[in-house]
Amino acid sequence: MAQLRFNALTNLLNKKVPDIKFPEKRVPEFYGELVFNDEAMKKYLQTSVYKKVKEAITNGALIDRNLADGVAAGMKAWALDHGAVHFTHWFQPLTDGTAEKHDGFINYGPDGKVIEEFAGKHLAQQEPDASSFPNGGIRQTFEARGYTAWDVSSPAFIVGSTLCIPTIFISYTGDALDYKTPLLKALHAVDKAAVDVCQYFDKNITKVYSYLGWEQEYFLVDDGLYMARPDLMLTGRTLMGHAAAKDQQLDDHYFGSIPERVAYFMRDLEVECQRLGIPVKTRHNEVAPNQFELAPIYEEANLANDHNLLVMDVMKRIAKHHGFEVLLHEKPFAGINGSGKHNNWSLGTNTGIDLFAPGKNPKGNILFLTFLVNTMAAVYHGQDLLRSMILNASNSHRLGANEAPPAIMSIFLGTQVSAMLDNIVEKVSDSKMSPEEKTALKLGIGRLPEILIDNTDRNRTSPFAFTGDRFEFRAVGSSANCAGAMTAVNAAVADQLVRFKKDVDALIDKGVKKDEAIFQELRKLIIECAPIHFDGNGYSDEWKAEAARRGLTNITSVPESIDKMLSDHAKEVFVKQGILTERELEARHEVEMEKFVKKVQIESRTMGDLVINNIVPVAMEYQNILIKNVKGMKEIMGDEAEALTANEKELIRKISNHVKEIREKTQTMINARKAANAIEDVREKAYAYNNNVRPLLDDIRYHVDKLELIVDNEMWPLPKYRELLFTR
Ligand code: ADP
Ligand code: MG
Repeated sequence: MAQLRFNALTNLLNKKVPDIKFPEKRVPEFYGELVFNDEAMKKYLQTSVYKKVKEAITNGALIDRNLADGVAAGMKAWALDHGAVHFTHWFQPLTDGTAEKHDGFINYGPDGKVIEEFAGKHLAQQEPDASSFPNGGIRQTFEARGYTAWDVSSPAFIVGSTLCIPTIFISYTGDALDYKTPLLKALHAVDKAAVDVCQYFDKNITKVYSYLGWEQEYFLVDDGLYMARPDLMLTGRTLMGHAAAKDQQLDDHYFGSIPERVAYFMRDLEVECQRLGIPVKTRHNEVAPNQFELAPIYEEANLANDHNLLVMDVMKRIAKHHGFEVLLHEKPFAGINGSGKHNNWSLGTNTGIDLFAPGKNPKGNILFLTFLVNTMAAVYHGQDLLRSMILNASNSHRLGANEAPPAIMSIFLGTQVSAMLDNIVEKVSDSKMSPEEKTALKLGIGRLPEILIDNTDRNRTSPFAFTGDRFEFRAVGSSANCAGAMTAVNAAVADQLVRFKKDVDALIDKGVKKDEAIFQELRKLIIECAPIHFDGNGYSDEWKAEAARRGLTNITSVPESIDKMLSDHAKEVFVKQGILTERELEARHEVEMEKFVKKVQIESRTMGDLVINNIVPVAMEYQNILIKNVKGMKEIMGDEAEALTANEKELIRKISNHVKEIREKTQTMINARKAANAIEDVREKAYAYNNNVRPLLDDIRYHVDKLELIVDNEMWPLPKYRELLFTR
C-alpha cells in the first residue's frame, strides 16, 4: 500500500534540475511579446482604429461594431504571426479560477476552402453555453446562455497557441455572473467619488485610479509525493498528517537561499510571466518550509487582478515541467503557516498624486489625510462586508485560527500617523478656527516624513495595515480571486467618500469655510472610527477581548460571514452604487454558500474514503504483526512473555481504540452529511455542514495522526509531513 509513497521518494533521488533553455535576450527585449499591447497595436492597427481604441481604453468608451472589426483584423494578424490557432474569451466565473472555451480561427470561405477567420463579432462577444457555472439561480437552465464581452481595458494575450481575450461574463438578462463585472463597476464608483472629493483641493484632478500590488504565497510539493496524497489532489490540503519533528521552528527557511530546483522553476515562471507582460519582480522563501512568494510591480487594479489569475494558472503549468505541484490552498498543512495574498492597495490621480502618500506639500497632505481617514471609516463600517468577500472554506483555516491575521478587522496606522490623528482631534473644534490654528494644523500634517518608518513589526499582524503610501489588505486568501476583496474595498471607500462629500457640502452650505468644514468632518470621523484603529499585536488573546469591548465583530463561521453579504450596509454599498443589483447580491450569497457546502462535502468524502480504505487496513495489518509477535513470544517464552509483551499489548489496545474511534466518527460524519444533504435550502445546508460535518474532520484526524506515530513507517501509505515539506 505504501508503494506510491516509496516510489515517489526513490524517484526524488534521481530528480535533477531540468534542462531549460532560458532566453538569451534581456528582459526588455522579450517583455510583453505575448501581449497585444500598445506597441503591437501601433504596428498592427490602422492609425484611425488605433486612436479610437486608445480613447476607449482611457475613457471607458464603448467599442462599436465597425471599430471591433478594425481591431479584430489587426489582432488576428498579430495572433497568427505569433503562432495562435485558436481564440477564446477568457473570463472569471464565480468558481476558483478562470474559464475559456477555445474556437479555432478556421472557417469555410465563400469558395468552400478553409480560411482563417476572426471578425469584430468574435472579438466583441461570445456565447459560451456555460450553463454549468455557478449562478445562484440567476440563469434557468432553459435560458442557459451566458454572454462574454470584451474588457477593452485589459489587453489580449497568447497562451500556448490560443489568443485570450479578457472578458466580462453576464447573463441573457444582463446580470453579472463573474468577478470582473462588479470589480469594473467598483473601480468606476471609486474613481467618481474620489474625483469629486479631490475637486475640493485641485481642479486638475479628473481621474482617480485604484492600484493593486498582490503578493502571491504558495507551496511547492514534489509531484510524485502529491500523487500519493489523494487529499492534496482532491481538496488542495492535507486532511491528515502528524507534524514533522522539525518544521518552521528555527525560521531557517524564511528569506533563506532558494533551493536550486526551485530557483529554476521560478526563473522559468518569471520568463513566462514577463513574456505575458506581467511585471513580476520579487521572489523569496516564505516562513514555512517549501513555501514561497512571488510579487509583481503594482498595476491598475483590474489589470493587476487579471495578471494574478493568469499567474496562478501559469504557475501550475510551469511547475509541472519541473516536477512540482503548486499548492495555492490557504492551509495545505496543519500546524504551520498558511498562505495569503496580501493586496497592496492605493489610489492615485491623473496628476500623479498618490493619495495615500504624505509629505509632498500641504495641499497633498490634506488630500492624504482625507483619504486616509475615509478609508478608516470605510473599513470600520465595512468590517463585515470585507470579511464576507474573503472568508470561505479554505481561508477560514487561516483567519481566526491562531494565525495571521485574525478574523477581526482592524487598521494599523503606525506611530506618526496615529499622532497626527490625535493632534487633529485635539486641535480642531466646531467653533471657528483662527488662521493661526489652521496654519499650525496644516504644518503639523506637513511634518510627516515622506517615508513613514515604524520601527515595530506589529503591522505584520494587522489585517489592514497602512504601510507608508498604501494599505495592505492581508486577510485575502492565497487561492482567491482578488476581485472579491478589491470590489469590496473600492466600493466601501467610494460609498464613504460620497457620504463625506455630502456632509462637508452641508457644512459649507451653512456658511462654514471649506477647509474648516473638511477638518471638522475628518475630526468627527476619526472619533467615530477610533475602534477600528489598532497598532498592537493582532494575534494576541488580549486583542480578541479588547476588540469585543470595542464592539468590533469577530466572525469565524463561514456561513455566518457570508450572510453579511446581505446586510443593510452591504446593500447600501453595492446596490445603491449600482455595483451589484439586489438580485445579483442574493445570487452571490447563494453561490458562496453552495461553494462552502461542496468544499466541505468533498473534504468529508475524501476523509471517509482515506481512513476506511487506506488508514484502517494498514493499522490493522500492523496490529496483526504485533498480535503475532505476542502469540509467538508466549509460545517460546511461556509465562515470562507476560511481562515482556506488556508494551505490545498496550499498543494493540491503542490501535484498536483509535480504529474504533475512526470508524465510529466516520459513520457519524456520514450520517451528518446525509442529514445535511437532505436539506433543501442551501443556506441552512451550509450551516448544517459547518456545525455538524466540519468538526468531525478534525476529530477523525486526531486519531489518524496518533496512528501515524504507532504504525511501522514502511507500511504507512501516505507521504508524511517531513517528506512533503523537506524534499524537493
Ligand atoms: P512586503 O512583503 O514587504 O509587503 P513586497 O515587496 O513583497 O513587500 O510587495 C509589496 C507589493 O506592494 C508589491 O507588489 C509592490 O509593487 C506593491 N506596492 C508598492 N507600492 C504600492 C502602491 N502605492 N500601491 C499599490 N501597491 C503598491
Ligand atoms: Mg506584504
